[in-house]
Amino acid sequence: MKKLVLLFFIILPVFGISSNKKSKQQWYKGNTHCHSTISDGDSAPFKVVKAYHDHGYNFLLLTDHNFLVDIDTIQKPQNLRDDFLMIPGEEVTDKKSVHTTAFNISKYVPFYNDQNKATNHQERIKEIRAALKAPSNLSKTDLLQIHVDGIIEAGGIPFLNHPNFSEGLQVSDILPVTNLHHIELYNGHPGVANWGKEGHISVEAKWDELLSNGAKIYGVAADDMHDLNTGVPKDAGLFRGWTMVKSNSLTPEAIHESITSGNFYSTNSVTLKTCTINAKKCKIKVDKATTQTEISKSFGVPRIDKTGEIGYTIEFIGNNGTVLSKTNDTKASYTPKNGDKYVRARITYCTKTDKGFEKLFAWTQPVFIN
Ligand SMILES: [Zn+2]
Ligand SMILES: [Zn+2]
Repeated sequence: MKKLVLLFFIILPVFGISSNKKSKQQWYKGNTHCHSTISDGDSAPFKVVKAYHDHGYNFLLLTDHNFLVDIDTIQKPQNLRDDFLMIPGEEVTDKKSVHTTAFNISKYVPFYNDQNKATNHQERIKEIRAALKAPSNLSKTDLLQIHVDGIIEAGGIPFLNHPNFSEGLQVSDILPVTNLHHIELYNGHPGVANWGKEGHISVEAKWDELLSNGAKIYGVAADDMHDLNTGVPKDAGLFRGWTMVKSNSLTPEAIHESITSGNFYSTNSVTLKTCTINAKKCKIKVDKATTQTEISKSFGVPRIDKTGEIGYTIEFIGNNGTVLSKTNDTKASYTPKNGDKYVRARITYCTKTDKGFEKLFAWTQPVFIN
């Protein structure tokens, strides 16, 4: 997120720092977006990896700006768990605040007009800075399409990151892009205006607009961690947003497949026991114990509103963000109807403090009803 943009060009696309674990379908917790001192994070890659490993994450992508870190060169945490996996990643970082997560790539993905001629790191930094400062006639749509095409060519999945950061991207910038099926719905960086700002509706409202216009797009939550050493709310701290991926096994291929097919939900603290969203039936059950454990750690940054309903609320949401069904309970179900274009669920946990109504969420992926 910071202006400093570093990169390098060594590409060693080897998967994983740990072994695989095969089992029945289960949930795996992962962060798809964070930074180290390779670009503009405050900590070395091994410290970042250790933090997520020690906090019980199952998979992690280190996504330095325009830099693909060779994950096999990162020092492993002590007592490395066999249910922890590194997946290769990069944040393709371009002009006009177009940033794109490259999930599970096999090679470095260049930004637009990336010359990549420098022969050492410092030169490369200068080269990148100069390239990103140069004027460009390309639209945000064009830049994003270049990222998407490059990431797919590298075998990865593109996620449009933080569309409300800086000048941001409007729905009209995103809709024309082809082969983009993931957007960062929640990003833990304090500068990204998840809930909206002047000239930008909330990212969740943009997501509904995209879905209502026929886009097949899933919503991801991620940390965008830069500041391992502080973690105070004004910094880009740890453990604020993550995905829970349902998969048969913890391998890059299996997680890749589940992310591709929308077999995951996103959260900034609320966790689920049941998350069934299909064209016949949508069923949600909150995991109250795990949610309370997450909340007690105080990493989640709530949305603060002037109004709210204290406790849990489960909403099933459809075309244009319409609430199709709502209950103040920890379990709910909804049967999709013919007229429903898509159905997704949002689960809110709300408390009242002197700041207002503080809300934490889980968001399921939509099912598309034809
Ligand atoms: Zn970014
Ligand atoms: Zn980032």
